[in-house]
Amino acid sequence: MIIMSKNIIVTGGSRGIGEAIVRMLAESGYNVILNYNKSEDLANNIKEELKNKGYNIEIFKADVSKREECKKLVDYSIEKFGNIDVLINNAGISQIKMFTDLTDDDWNNMIQTNLNSVFYMTQEVAHHMIKQHNGNIINISSVWGLVGGSCEVHYSTVKAAINGFTKALAKELGPSNIKVNAIAPGIINTDMNKEIDKEDMENLKNEIPLGKIGQPTDIARCAKWLVEDEFTTGQIISPNGGWVII
Ligand code: NAP
Repeated sequence: MIIMSKNIIVTGGSRGIGEAIVRMLAESGYNVILNYNKSEDLANNIKEELKNKGYNIEIFKADVSKREECKKLVDYSIEKFGNIDVLINNAGISQIKMFTDLTDDDWNNMIQTNLNSVFYMTQEVAHHMIKQHNGNIINISSVWGLVGGSCEVHYSTVKAAINGFTKALAKELGPSNIKVNAIAPGIINTDMNKEIDKEDMENLKNEIPLGKIGQPTDIARCAKWLVEDEFTTGQIISPNGGWVII
């Protein structure tokens, strides 16, 4: 039996959740394009390590908040692997700030980096996926998109928008055999949360029924499941330790 591999783009794959997804998928035998923006050394190290172990990984620098760079990332991926089976829109930023202190720049930067990037990347790959009548898009959202986070109104807004985008696009692209789902993680141990001090982290942990902070691999496992599943679309799956149950 021939097992067909899949060609997968992971945006923001140089650190945190994206890195864990890249590693798990490459180590599972998939062909992975790791997109990074600022963390060139980290991206190079991951590539070298995985290539040395015999896995198929390439890296590409692109700021996904810019349409032109998204197009270049998609063109490069097709040039390397021939087609794209899966897009994982993971790249993102966060900012903790009172709503009344948010500037237009804060707001626009959040929309551009966390939401418009998803629009650009998805549209660039959708043209190819529709032609090949096959595809899988996985958006990394957040629990804040489900229930809202105080002092993260702009972040919560874009994550809620990603959930709406996911549901609508799943309906539109389902007939083209393209699945669209989102993962809405709870609190995960990455650089994104490095500002939270030890005491606050302990308090957060106590609020979580499973009694632990998530690890990037918890989200990678969920992403791998969605890469392999054949009948799930339009869903927002939330690995969060029971912190948010709706
Ligand atoms: P992280 O550790 O801060 O990593 C962020 C990643 O995004 C980095 O690889 C970074 O790449 C990339 N990135 C940022 N801006 C980019 C841009 N303009 N173009 C390309 N790449 C860009 O964050 P994380 O915790 O892994 O978060 C990953 C995703 O999970 C985000 O969408 C986040 O909103 C979501 N999430 C995280 C949590 C959590 O608790 N950590 C919870 C819910 C949802 P470079 O370093 O190369 O620039």
